[in-house]
Amino acid sequence: MNDYKNFAQSELDRLIPIQNRFKEEFDIDSYANWFYDGESAILRLYNSDDDEIFFKYIPIGTFSLSQKTWMWSWFNNYLNEKNKIETLKIKQFGEENQFEKLTTGTFTSDEFDGWEFLAISQKLLAGIGVYKINGDNLEHFLLLTELINPDSNQEIRKLKQKTVDCGNHGFKRPAFVCQHLELDSKKGFEESFETFPGMDLEDDDDFSAWCDECERKRIECDGWNDKSEEFAKIKLVCEDCYFEMKKSNQNKSY
Ligand SMILES: [Zn+2]
Ligand SMILES: [Zn+2]
Repeated sequence: MNDYKNFAQSELDRLIPIQNRFKEEFDIDSYANWFYDGESAILRLYNSDDDEIFFKYIPIGTFSLSQKTWMWSWFNNYLNEKNKIETLKIKQFGEENQFEKLTTGTFTSDEFDGWEFLAISQKLLAGIGVYKINGDNLEHFLLLTELINPDSNQEIRKLKQKTVDCGNHGFKRPAFVCQHLELDSKKGFEESFETFPGMDLEDDDDFSAWCDECERKRIECDGWNDKSEEFAKIKLVCEDCYFEMKKSNQNKSY
């Protein structure tokens, strides 16, 4: 165990100058927003459509802020990224060296473990830098492996096709709401399933919500049919707009 501590510390010390150079070279701190797509394992950092940068990544693991647990990506069934199997190389390295933390799928932890794991991954999986995404409850620790040129990249073209270009929020996942829901209205918020910001969606699931009026119409029509859908006139918004609408519309005024 003591062996591991020394090893992890020396890996971390090794990573710091590499990471500093990486941040400097790509001006990483200058980007205010992030978006990542699990299917293509692409991270987009951006300020606007003209001011953006794309990286290929390997998801190393996640840290749950509520449960204070680490989970390796090879152990995580919820991750879409196909290249998460790369992290099995870290597990194998752990087995060879009897480093328990590298071979246990999930365990009580702190954020500091995550940085050590990134440092270890950076060498084993040949990363150019690392990045931590701060979700509401989950922190995603990503190893960046490659800069991608968006103009010549098929995956990014696909990514842009399946995202909405929102005037306020940039490229985001699509979401659907009835015509009555607005950013600051208070009209109720019925959803097709329980949602929270940043959650992963199954392939055929979409964020979708409608107001109280539409819910009455839907029940009157015995579900969604031509008549209730005509009343709702579902419109496309971005997922950030969706959750802003959820916030205001859930707090009904009656
Ligand atoms: Zn409505
Ligand atoms: Zn938006």
